[in-house]
Amino acid sequence: MSEVKPIVVALAGNPNAGKTSLFNRLTGLRAHVGNYPGVTVEQKWGQFEHKGRTIKVVDLPGTYSLNSYSLDERVARDFIINERPDLVVDVVDSSNLERNLYLTLQFLELGLPAIVTLNMMDMAEAKGLNINLKKLEQGLGVTAVPIVATQGKGVEVLLDRIIEVASEPEAQWKPIKISYGHDIDEAIKQIQSRVESSTLPLDRMPARWLTLKYLESDPAVEKLISAEAPALSASAAPIKTRLAGHLRTTLDDDLDGVMTDRRYGFLSGLNRQAVTRVRRDKREISDAIDRVLLNRLIAPFFFLAVVYGLYQFTFWASEPAVGWLESFFEFLGETTENNMADGPLKNLILEGLIGGVGGVLGFAPLIAFMFMGISILEDSGYMARVAFILDRIFRAFGLHGNSVMALVVGGGIAGGCAIPGVMATRTLRDPKERIATILVTPFMTCGAKLPVFLMLVAAFFSENQALVMMGLTSFAWLIALVSAKLLRTFLLPGEPAPFVLELPPYRMPTVSGVLLHAWERTWSYIKKAGTIIVAVTIVIWLMMTFPSLPEDRQAAFDERAAAVEALIAAEPEGSAALAALEEEKTAVKLEADSATLRNSLAGRLGSALEPLSRLIGFDWRTNIALVGGFAAKEVVLSTLGTSYAMSSDAGAASQPDDDSATPAEEEEDEEDALIRSLGAKLASDPAWSPLAAVSLMVFVLIYAPCFVTIVVIGKEIGAKWAVFSLLASTVYAYLICLVIFQGGQALGLA
Ligand code: GDP
Ligand code: MG
Repeated sequence: MSEVKPIVVALAGNPNAGKTSLFNRLTGLRAHVGNYPGVTVEQKWGQFEHKGRTIKVVDLPGTYSLNSYSLDERVARDFIINERPDLVVDVVDSSNLERNLYLTLQFLELGLPAIVTLNMMDMAEAKGLNINLKKLEQGLGVTAVPIVATQGKGVEVLLDRIIEVASEPEAQWKPIKISYGHDIDEAIKQIQSRVESSTLPLDRMPARWLTLKYLESDPAVEKLISAEAPALSASAAPIKTRLAGHLRTTLDDDLDGVMTDRRYGFLSGLNRQAVTRVRRDKREISDAIDRVLLNRLIAPFFFLAVVYGLYQFTFWASEPAVGWLESFFEFLGETTENNMADGPLKNLILEGLIGGVGGVLGFAPLIAFMFMGISILEDSGYMARVAFILDRIFRAFGLHGNSVMALVVGGGIAGGCAIPGVMATRTLRDPKERIATILVTPFMTCGAKLPVFLMLVAAFFSENQALVMMGLTSFAWLIALVSAKLLRTFLLPGEPAPFVLELPPYRMPTVSGVLLHAWERTWSYIKKAGTIIVAVTIVIWLMMTFPSLPEDRQAAFDERAAAVEALIAAEPEGSAALAALEEEKTAVKLEADSATLRNSLAGRLGSALEPLSRLIGFDWRTNIALVGGFAAKEVVLSTLGTSYAMSSDAGAASQPDDDSATPAEEEEDEEDALIRSLGAKLASDPAWSPLAAVSLMVFVLIYAPCFVTIVVIGKEIGAKWAVFSLLASTVYAYLICLVIFQGGQALGLA
C-alpha cells in the first residue's frame, strides 16, 4: 500500500492578518510546536485529515515582505525556498487588501502555487468594500477564497481548494510577471538570460526572481551570486549600475524604490478593478452633507422646513384626486338613491357603506402622497438624521436616542403606525425606557388619525392647513416627551443609558422605490378601510339604527310628515308658501332621524357620556364616533360621516330634479353637494367651532390606542401595561382636552 504524501501548506501573511486564528481553526488542538529542520526560529505546525488527504500546515512568521532584511522574513523565505511546500496559503486582511497583497505578490513572483485567503470579510463588508473575486483571481492568477477566520466561515471551502490546487498536475512553480516599466524590464531581460545560463540553483529559485532580487540589492541574493556565479556578477553589475543611474536622473529614486513603487502600482490597478468602495465614497459625500445638515444651528430649521415641506407637498399634490374621489362617491350615492327601493338595506348601503368607506377612501390620495414624501425621507437616509438631531432633546426627557425611531415610526413625522413603532422599541436595552417609549408612541400622529385631522383641518382651518398640521405634529411630540418625562419621574425612575447613534450614508431615493413604499402603505391603508373598517362601520351602523323608535313616537313623526305633505299637495305650484313648507318637511324628517339615532344603542351610550364630553366640546354624535375609534382610529371619521349623514342630510338627496332650475339654483345644487362632504357639514354646524375641532383632534391624538396596538403592547410588555395604556391614555386625553376647551372658552375662543 503506497502512502499518499501529505500536502504541506505554508501559512503566511502580514502580522495581524488572522494567521493564528486560521491556524487554530484548521488544526484545532492538533498543533505541534517545534523546530523545523534548518530553521532557527521556533515554528508551529499541525496535521489533520480532509477528504482522505493528510494536510500539514506550517505557520510562517508574519511578515510584510519577503526581503532578507529581518530574521522573520528570512525564515519565511528560506522555508519556502528550501522546503518547497506544496502551496502557500496567504492570509490577507480583506479590509486592507492593497497593502496586504504586497506580500502575496512576492510569493507569486517566487512562483509557488498559492491560494489567497481573503480573511476578515466581515470587516471588509462593514467598511463597505465589495471585492470582485473573479477579477482578483484573474489579476493575480491564483485562487482566492473569502473567509472569516474567527467564525470559521469559508474554511471548508478553503480546505477543498487546498486539495484541488495541490492535486493539479500543473501545480508547479509558475512565477507571475508584472511589468516594472520599460527601462527596468529591459534590464531584467538582459540579466535574466545571463542567470538562466549560469550555474545557480534554478530548481529552487526561478531565474526571474533571482534577477529581481539582484536588482533590488537583496543581500542574500547578491551574496549568492557573487559566491556561486562570479562571471554573472561581473557582467550584470554594469547593467544594474547604468539602470540605477538612469533612474536616479529621470525619476530621482533608487532602483529598489522604483521597483517597490511599480509593485504597488500593479496592486493599485488591481484594487481599482476588483474592489469597489461603494459605501466608502457615499460615506464621504454623506459626511459632507452631514456637516451642513447636522450643524447645530442649521439642523433644527432644516428639520422643521422638511416637515413643513412634506405637508405642503401632500396637500398640494393630492387636492385634485381628493376632489375626484369626492365626486365619485357622490355619484355612487345618487345612483343608489335613485335606483333602490327605500328600506333598511338602502340605508345601510347609502349611510353605512358609501358614507363610511367613502369617507375613508376619500383620504387615500392624501395618505398616498404623505407616504411618498415619507418614503423619500426614509430612503434618502434623512430619517436617521432626525433621530440624531432630536437625541439631545430626548435625553432631557429621560429617553434614549433610539426611542426617537420608535416615535418617528409611530408617526413622529405624520403618517406612521404605532404598531411597528411599539415593536421598534425592541432595540432599547433599558426596560424602563422601553416601557416609557411604548406608552407614549401611540400619542404620535399615526396614519389612521390623519384622515380625522385632515378633515377637521380642511373644514375649520382651510387658510392654514399646513401650519395647523405641523402644529399638531409638534404638539404630539411635546405630549409624548412630557409624558415620557412624567413616566420616567414617577412610575419608571432611572438614569438614561449611554449609547451610540448610527448614521447610514445618504442615498438618492429611486423613483420605483419611493412609489413602491408609498403604494405598499397606501394599499394596506385601503385594505384596512375595506375590511376592519367596513365591518366596524356596519356594526356601528346597526348600533346607530337599533333599537328603532317606540311605535307611538314614530307614529307621531309620521303624522306630522303626512300633514306637511298634504299642505304641500294643496299649495299651487310656484307659490311663496311652498318653499317654507318644503323647509318644514325637511325639518320634521331631521327631527325624526335625530330622535331615532338618539334612541339607538350607540345614541344611548353617546348620550350617557354627554355630560362628561360636553365639557370638552363633544356632543353624543362625536361620542359615538370616539367609541368606534377604539376599534381603529379610521373609524372615528367614518362614524362621524355616518352619524352626520343620518341626522342632518336627510331629504336633500331625495329632492326630485327640477327641470326648470335657474343657473343660481344649479350653483346652489353644487354647494349642496359640497356641504354633503363631512367637513363642510361640521363647519356649518352651530354646535361645532374651531375650538371644538382642536379639542377633538387632541382627544383623538391621545386617547386609547387602537385595539391592535393594545394587543401588541400586551405582547411586548405584558397585559398589565396594555390595560394601563388603554385607561390612562383615555383619562389623560380627557384631562388635557378639559384644559384646552375650558381654557379656550374662558378666553372667548368659542
Ligand atoms: P496573526 O497576527 O496573523 O496571527 O492574526 P491573529 O489570528 O492573531 O488575529 C489578529 C486579530 O484579528 C485577532 O484579534 C483576531 O481575533 C482578529 N481576527 C482574525 N480573523 C478575523 C476575522 O476574520 N474577522 C474579524 N473581525 N477579526 C478577525
Ligand atoms: Mg499570530
